[in-house]
Amino acid sequence: MASHIVGYPRMGPKRELKFALESFWDGKSSAEDLEKVATDLRASIWKQMADAGIKYIPSNTFSYYDQVLDTTATLGAVPERYSWTGGEIGLSTYFSMARGNATVPAMEMTKWFDTNYHFIVPELGPNTKFSYSSHKAVNEYKEAKALGVDTVPVLVGPVSYLLLSKPAKGVEKSFPLLSLLSSILPVYKEVIAELKAAGATWIQFDEPTLVLDLDSHQLAAFSAAYTELESALSGLNVLVETYFADIPSESYKTLTSLNSVTAYGFDLIRGTKTLDLVKSAGFPSGKYFFAGVVDGRNIWADDLAASLSTLEALEALVGKDKLVVSTSCSLMHTAVDLVNETKLDAEIKSWLAFAAQKVVEVNALAKALAGQKDEAYFAANAAAQASRRSSPRVTNEEVQKAAAALKGSDHRRATNVSARLDAQQKKLNLPVLPTTTIGSFPQTVELRRVRREYKAKKISEEEYISAIKEEISKVVKIQEELDIDVLVHGEPERNDMVEYFGEQLSGFAFTANGWVQSYGSRCVKPPIIYGDVSRPNPMTVFWSKTAQSMTSRPMKGMLTGPVTILNWSFVRNDQPRFETCYQIALAIKKEVEDLEAGGIQVIQIDEAALREGLPLRKAEHAFYLDWAVHSFRITNSGVQDTTQIHTHMCYSNFNDIIHSIINMDADVITIENSRSDEKLLSVFREGVKYGAGIGPGVYDIHSPRIPSTEEIADRINKMLAVLDTNILWVNPDCGLKTRKYGEVKPALTNMVSAAKLIRTQL
Ligand code: GLN
Ligand code: ZN
Repeated sequence: MASHIVGYPRMGPKRELKFALESFWDGKSSAEDLEKVATDLRASIWKQMADAGIKYIPSNTFSYYDQVLDTTATLGAVPERYSWTGGEIGLSTYFSMARGNATVPAMEMTKWFDTNYHFIVPELGPNTKFSYSSHKAVNEYKEAKALGVDTVPVLVGPVSYLLLSKPAKGVEKSFPLLSLLSSILPVYKEVIAELKAAGATWIQFDEPTLVLDLDSHQLAAFSAAYTELESALSGLNVLVETYFADIPSESYKTLTSLNSVTAYGFDLIRGTKTLDLVKSAGFPSGKYFFAGVVDGRNIWADDLAASLSTLEALEALVGKDKLVVSTSCSLMHTAVDLVNETKLDAEIKSWLAFAAQKVVEVNALAKALAGQKDEAYFAANAAAQASRRSSPRVTNEEVQKAAAALKGSDHRRATNVSARLDAQQKKLNLPVLPTTTIGSFPQTVELRRVRREYKAKKISEEEYISAIKEEISKVVKIQEELDIDVLVHGEPERNDMVEYFGEQLSGFAFTANGWVQSYGSRCVKPPIIYGDVSRPNPMTVFWSKTAQSMTSRPMKGMLTGPVTILNWSFVRNDQPRFETCYQIALAIKKEVEDLEAGGIQVIQIDEAALREGLPLRKAEHAFYLDWAVHSFRITNSGVQDTTQIHTHMCYSNFNDIIHSIINMDADVITIENSRSDEKLLSVFREGVKYGAGIGPGVYDIHSPRIPSTEEIADRINKMLAVLDTNILWVNPDCGLKTRKYGEVKPALTNMVSAAKLIRTQL
C-alpha cells in the first residue's frame, strides 16, 4: 500500500526561508546565500519524507514566493511593465512581479481559496506571449534525484491556472481567459517532455478549482486540456489532485472520464460527501485513488483508527493496489514541526501533529493497510485520542449547555436601529459626519519592547501598566488635539487582535513556532482552540476604563468578534465550527456587558475576517452567514439602546453579502474602502436600504501616502451623493498600527478638516 504527500511547507521549521528572503531583499546577503538556504531546506524535506517511507514524494512544491507565480514564470507570462526581455526568468524579475520594485508596482495578490494563503494573480490577455521560461520543475526533480529521491513533480494544472487568473490591464473584463488554453498547453508539453526525459514516471497536476461551482463551459476546458495533453503524457502516471472541498458530482464525472489521467486525489477531510459519491457514481477501474485522509489544514493528530476504517471501505471500492494514502491538501497550510514546541505541555502536545508528524501518520496508515500495522504507534495514537475526548480541559459542561441553548434561537436587540441611533445621539451628542479611527495607533519599537519585556518578566507589572497608560494618554491627547469625535485607546497592549483575546480566554493554546505561510515571506501563528471557550476574567475593561477616564469624549471599547477569532485560529475538529463560534460569542458577550457596566458607551466589535470564512460553494453560504451573523448579534443583543455598537470589516467587496451585514444589526459599521468608492457605493445606489451608521474608509492606511483635505472632502461628497448625511461617519479604512506617527498625524489632520469643511457646506 502506497503513501503520498500533496505538498509540504516551504518556510522551514524555524522560518529559515523567511529570514533568508528578507535578508536577500534587504541586500544583506547574496543570491547564492538564498539559494543555499533553499537547497538545504528542499534536501531536508525530501530526506524526511523518504526516511518516513513515503512512496510518492512531491517536488516543485517549494517556492521562493508562490506556486502560481512560479507557473507564471514557467509560462513566461510576465506582464509588460516588468520589461522582461526573455530568457530564463531570474530572481530579479521574479521578485519584481511578487513585490514590485522602485518603478513598478507588484502584481495583485489574492486569497488562495478559503485558506489564509495568498497567491499572485496572473494577468493575461489576447496579447500575452507564452514561452517556456523557468525550468524550476525540472531542476527540482533532478535535484531530488541526485539526492537519491525519485519524486512526483507537481504543477499547477493548466485549467486552474487560467481560472485563477485575471484579464491584464487594458484588457476587456469579459475577456475569455480559458481561450488561452491552447496557447499555454504547448509550454506544458515542453515541461512534461523534459520531466519524462529526466526520468519522471509520475506527474501531479493540482486542479483545486474542480471543487468550485463550475459551469459546463469551464468543465469542458478540463476535458479539452487533458485530451490535448494525452500524447505528451503517455507513458506517465498522471495524478490530478483536488482539495479544499467535495468535488461536485458533474465535475467528478468529467474528471473520472479523462483518458490521460491515471490517478485522482480527493480531500476526504473537507470533502465529506466524496465517499458517498464514489459509492454511487463508481470509480474507473484500473485507476488510482489518492485518499486525502490526513488533514493538511489543521494541527490535530489524526484519528488513525477512524482513518483506517475509511480506507478499508475505500479499498473495497477501488481495489487493493489502487488505493494510496495521502494528505487532504498540501501540508503548507499547517504548522511545520511539533518537535520545536517546547512550551506546550505534554498532554496537549500528544493531541497534535504538524506537517512533519503528518508525514509519519500517512505512512503508518499505508503500512497498516498493507498488513504491517505498527501496533505500538496505533495504540499511542488511540490513547491520545481518548485522552483528548475525556480531558476536563476540553469539556466544560456549563459552556456546552449555554452554547447548545443558542442553537435554533435568535438574538436581536429589541429596538430597531434608527430608534437606537436616536437614543444614542441624545447621550453622545455628536456632530454630523462624526470622525473616528478604527482602533490601533502606531506601534513603536519602544512599545514592542515594553510588551516583550513584560512577557519575559523583565519589567514589573507596575512598570508595564504605567508605560501602557502613558501611551494611552499620549494617544488620547493626540486625538483631542486633532478634534476627533469618538476616540480609541490605540491598542498599545495588543500585539495581535486575535492572540490578545485568545491568551485570556480558556480553551486556547499558543505555539512557539507554529507558523503558516500567509504570503511571500509573511507567516502567521494561529492560536489553537482545543477546548470549550470561556472568559474567566474581564479582558479589556481595565484599559478601556482607564482610557475613558482621561477624556470627556466617548472612548470606544475595542473587541475582536467571535467569527474573526474563529477564522484566524486552528479550530477544534471534534465539534462543528458554529458551536465553537457560539462559545466564543458568549465569552465576548460577557466582555461587552462588563464594558457597558463600566461606563463605556461605544463598543466596537471587529469582524475583520467574517467574509473570509465564506464556504467555497454557494450552496453553503447561507448556512455559514446565518450562524456567523447570529454569533455577532449574540455578543451585543443584551446591551441598552443607548450603548452604541460598532463593527469593522477589512474589505470592500461586500456587495454579495450586504444583506448579512445589515442583518448583523450593528449601530455603526466602518469598512475598508481604500481602493474604490465605486464598488462599495454601487450597492447602495442600487437601492439597498441602509439605516445604520456607516463609515467607508476615506483614505487608504496601507500606503504611507498622506491624502490631502480636498481629496478626502471629495470622497466624502461622493459618499453623500449615495448615503444619507445622518448615517455617514468619517474614518480611515483600517487600524493605524503599521503606520508611523509622521504619516498618521497629518493624514488625520486632513481627515478632520475635510469633515469640518463639509459640515459647513451642508
Ligand atoms: N481594531 C483593529 C485595529 O485597528 C482592527 C484591525 C483590522 O481590522 N484588521 O488594529
Ligand atoms: Zn480592517
